[in-house]
Amino acid sequence: MKARNLRKVIESVPTSDGAGVKLRRSLGAGPFARLDPFLMLDEFYSDNPDDYLAGFPSHPHRGFETVTYMLDGRMEHKDHLGNTGDLGPGSVQWMSAGRGVIHSEMPRQTEGRMRGFQLWINLPADEKMKPADYRDIPAGEVPELPFDGGLARVIAGTLTLRGQSLDGAVNHSDKRISTDPLYIDLRLDPGSQATIPVQAGYNSFVYLYEGDAVIGEQSLHRRHAGVLEDGDQVTIQAGEHGARLLLLAGKPLNEPVVQYGPFVMNTREEIEQAVRDYQSGRLTEPA
Ligand code: FE
Repeated sequence: MKARNLRKVIESVPTSDGAGVKLRRSLGAGPFARLDPFLMLDEFYSDNPDDYLAGFPSHPHRGFETVTYMLDGRMEHKDHLGNTGDLGPGSVQWMSAGRGVIHSEMPRQTEGRMRGFQLWINLPADEKMKPADYRDIPAGEVPELPFDGGLARVIAGTLTLRGQSLDGAVNHSDKRISTDPLYIDLRLDPGSQATIPVQAGYNSFVYLYEGDAVIGEQSLHRRHAGVLEDGDQVTIQAGEHGARLLLLAGKPLNEPVVQYGPFVMNTREEIEQAVRDYQSGRLTEPA
């Protein structure tokens, strides 16, 4: 077995998006800070309503998937088809924008903590124009694997840990995703460690959102994304205050990426088409 050690660290940077929501962006902070098929990872975390109340009013997406994972607080999702989703603590929304979604993501609280993540996963060229679809996964439907020294929540893919195997909320038996993502939220108690198999050849990274951790010989600090080398498995050791982190892996697409804000396509012409479609109100129409 070959261990996946840290290959490089992407520090998150403070930024804002939507109508002024403050967040930390690691992957996606620049065009060279992507990890195919992952385009972007944002962490939002604030106890100050001024940082999140403005929310993400109506905006479009085309060409990729967005995965929202809430830790604290509530968001309400509404899309152009009239669908409404309530995202509470521990829940996940998996949206495949395909050829187009126009939606809003707005806080359903005026005080208290808002905390969570939004991940963007690219779609292969031949799926970028498929019809949009999404799925809300309540907290109670995210499979959990408690183990001596921690807890794993399996959002997508299959987790194997200490001889036990658990399918995530999104996996091949119910939803086929070409990039075959693994998405695990891992909590490690102080000093404990976990070794998790990660498919060789897939790109993989860890985002540490609480505490400290060591991967191989290298430390990973809070709010940093650690891109892993290729290999079969990763061993994560928590520091003295424990660690909470996201572990992600996916099959690389190896296709050109051209991004213009919320549109991610393969060519400049396709981006220009997306902008025209949006401006003329045809973004979400079937081809
Ligand atoms: Fe959005």
